[in-house]
Amino acid sequence: MTTTHSPNPSVATPLPFIRSELASLQAYTPHPGGTEGQSVAISIDRVDTNENPYDLPLELKQKLAQMWVEAIESNRYPDGGHQRLKAEIAAYVTESAGLSVGAAAGNEDGILPSQISVGNGSDELLRSILIATCVGGAGSILVAAPTFSMYGILAQTLGIPVVSIDRTANFEVDVTAAQTAISDRQAAPIRVVFMVHPNSPTGNALSATELDWMRGLPTDILVVIDEAYFEFSQQTVVAELASHPNWIVLRTFSKAFRLAAHRVGYAVGHPQLIATLEQVRLPYNLPSISLAAAELVLQHRLALLAVLPEITNERDRLFVALSKFDALKVWRSDANFLYVRMLGVENAELAMAQLVAKLKIHGTSIRHTGGGLRISIGSPAENDRTIARIGDLLGSF
Ligand SMILES: *Cc1c(COP(=O)(O)O)cnc(C)c1O
Repeated sequence: MTTTHSPNPSVATPLPFIRSELASLQAYTPHPGGTEGQSVAISIDRVDTNENPYDLPLELKQKLAQMWVEAIESNRYPDGGHQRLKAEIAAYVTESAGLSVGAAAGNEDGILPSQISVGNGSDELLRSILIATCVGGAGSILVAAPTFSMYGILAQTLGIPVVSIDRTANFEVDVTAAQTAISDRQAAPIRVVFMVHPNSPTGNALSATELDWMRGLPTDILVVIDEAYFEFSQQTVVAELASHPNWIVLRTFSKAFRLAAHRVGYAVGHPQLIATLEQVRLPYNLPSISLAAAELVLQHRLALLAVLPEITNERDRLFVALSKFDALKVWRSDANFLYVRMLGVENAELAMAQLVAKLKIHGTSIRHTGGGLRISIGSPAENDRTIARIGDLLGSF
């Protein structure tokens, strides 16, 4: 047994200077990360945080290490304007959205560096958006559950009311309920709507119905379209940003681009909105090594993203394999994870919690969230073990 010396904040007397609403806040449970402090001897298949299962190739890590040694001055602040990275991101976003650039196209359709803001993970950008729109009683946010939990958590830390509506049976945002929620609110009107494309944990990209509803929203409501899994889905609303100044797209380098350790995300939107996010963010929000890493992966994007077909094929293989278990309901996914629920058990939440705990003991870590199980697509060997271990354990329910 190990003993802990840090006081348990949930049982301690609240400090009198802390805002009372934070006492009841359920913080995001971060992934332990790495192997440090891991008490079990076996290695764990970490298919619970939707990262790319592959680390950067050794040559790129060496390049990065070389930059760290030769080009980065540790005693100097990082580039606080991110100009070079913004230009490279703008080019990538333009190219990957199939927008035309260059003189022939009059540069009209391309995304410009002035439309990009870079954050310490897209989580930082989410917080900047909330600060810029809702803080101080200015507004509330609308989320549709189950969805990424950080929207609600960040809003609560800033004292921003969260209005949560349900999704339909196929996990689309219930747009009728959303419309009612928007019309009903008098005090602190809905200022920001969070759409996820594709949604986590359910894996579905935005439907035609959802997109139509977003297009019709009044221009005093900001629509955040979180495209953290764009590289897997290849579906984006970037081409529509020009006609919707109240939309903003969020992306991250943490998933397909293999840089979760470096914490780099970005927003794409109207230059005025982007300028506001720049105003709100911390001046040196990204370490020099993370800026260098993001530039490096963009330069090598073709090689790095070449692994994506393997991951989406593996996703489809995992879908077929898990669908064969009568005790599971599995949904199709546009991302690098699958959403699953247990069927035919009396207390599904309890059964799923037990399955997650047992799986972990057997060496596979998955996530229990939003009334179901979210299973990331790992390497083929990891996926084989996921299927085999789930199959073995389901017999005990
Ligand atoms: C992983 C994830 C993010 C967070 O990305 P970071 O850039 O690592 O902060 C944002 N949104 C969704 C939906 C995610 O799944």
